[in-house]
Amino acid sequence: MNLMMQNPAAGAKGAFAAQIDALANRLKGKITLPTHSDYDDCRALALGQFDHRPLLVARVANAPDIADLLDFARSNNLPIAVRSGGHSTCGHGGCEGGVVIDLRALNTLDINCDEMTAWIGTGLSAGEVTNALEKHKLIIGFGDSPTVGVGGLTLGGGVGYFVRKHGLTIDSLLAAELVTANGDILIADNKQNTELFWALRGGGGNFGVVTRFKYRVHQLPEFTGGPMIMPATPEVLAGFVAAAEWAPEELSTILMVMPALPMPFLPPEIVGKTIILAMMAYAGPAASAQAALAPFRALATPLADLVGPAPFSSMYLPEPPGPKPAVSVRTLFMDGMSVAEAGKVLDVLEHCEAPMRMAQVRVLGGAAARIPNDATAYAHRDKRIMTAFLAMDGSPAAAIRHDAWVSSCIKALPQAIDGAYVNFLAAESDRLSAAYPAATWERLRQIKRQYDPENLFRLNQNIPPA
Ligand SMILES: Cc1cc2nc3c(=O)[nH]c(=O)nc-3n(C[C@H](O)[C@H](O)[C@H](O)COP(=O)(O)OP(=O)(O)OC[C@H]3O[C@@H](n4cnc5c(N)ncnc54)[C@H](O)[C@@H]3O)c2cc1C
Repeated sequence: MNLMMQNPAAGAKGAFAAQIDALANRLKGKITLPTHSDYDDCRALALGQFDHRPLLVARVANAPDIADLLDFARSNNLPIAVRSGGHSTCGHGGCEGGVVIDLRALNTLDINCDEMTAWIGTGLSAGEVTNALEKHKLIIGFGDSPTVGVGGLTLGGGVGYFVRKHGLTIDSLLAAELVTANGDILIADNKQNTELFWALRGGGGNFGVVTRFKYRVHQLPEFTGGPMIMPATPEVLAGFVAAAEWAPEELSTILMVMPALPMPFLPPEIVGKTIILAMMAYAGPAASAQAALAPFRALATPLADLVGPAPFSSMYLPEPPGPKPAVSVRTLFMDGMSVAEAGKVLDVLEHCEAPMRMAQVRVLGGAAARIPNDATAYAHRDKRIMTAFLAMDGSPAAAIRHDAWVSSCIKALPQAIDGAYVNFLAAESDRLSAAYPAATWERLRQIKRQYDPENLFRLNQNIPPA
């Protein structure tokens, strides 16, 4: 007897299970379901507050797999999450009850040293790419964390240790291969699908699933870098930011104003006190690095100074062991940092109970600022300083409290100017317009209408179709 004929609900369920079976058989990649032992590993994201339970996680092997999954999700009206490195500050790499397109098996890396280009699979992390390029004394500028995926980082812009020397990550992007909402596999570059290529450089995951990026690679024959730890006074912080703005473009810095962790090179009485941990990155000859670093060293006697010739990969600080923290974040741009503003930054850090809280200050300019604002969908090239407030805690419940704190921090800075970096936005629908000025927003919406009129890709910093 056919049981499905007796019970239509069971029949529908059985038919759906059969669809998933058929999908799993068709795909070259692998599907993981809630019943599988590796389900929790497969669905885990980098930030501890996200715990989505998708219907399935599909670790795709190629572009046709992605097209098949898009078709399956659309016909069953399921949400789609696209996951590269899983570091979205909104948990967009996962979804509840839907389909996760997990790109981590798209890990090809094809370096062409003659052309000075590389095709890179979007399943790779910044650290994996950096390590591979380092063997050839080459670099692409990604961010400050090795585990962030090149997928999400590049699509939002990419601000890291070479921002002043080589620009944003997207300024080294030459082409992208992607699967669009209707399953087409396209190349977008400066010759074909040019509007799409413009949108992919800052518009996030709104326009399709990118399988590979082609980047220009840069030579890095010598590098000087490492942490310089300074006393956290308003004068030193403001002086540091000013010196970083005047510095030669070879030097990019990321300052973290934060409580000192126990470190072998720090006196024990400093631990827990607020310090400035400045990661210094000089992309040039060691001899000229010293002159570039001198103004910083003259601001105060460093509590520790580990800046010296080193492989670039040494800039990636080890991640603390243990469970992944919940992270609250808010970001803003500033057009300078006076002593009074630096004092405010130090003051707000005193009003947070998170075990790890920080203000992160990135001085921009240089190569990133030489490109016109409207040349890419990242439209903040004239902004001089990007600041983010972060609170990290073990418990997702605490993240809600810390969210209120990080929000209050950006309101506390009196000269905050309008604008936000999309990759550091939390789930703040009211601030998405700060990431995209009106003309950029309108152009993105037109492009969205052309490539994803149904808004299939909506689990992201969403740009609705025009
Ligand atoms: C610890 C940490 C450090 C960071 N440091 C920096 C930094 O120094 N500089 C900087 O610029 N940013 C930094 N970021 C922000 C980071 O760039 C963004 O969170 C980025 O979106 C993460 O990319 P991902 O691929 O790891 O994340 P995911 O969660 O996998 O993806 C993020 C978003 O991008 C979309 N997406 C990812 N890959 C693709 C793809 N191939 N095709 C289509 N859509 C895709 C996803 O759907 C999602 O919406 C940091 C974030 C964290 C958590």
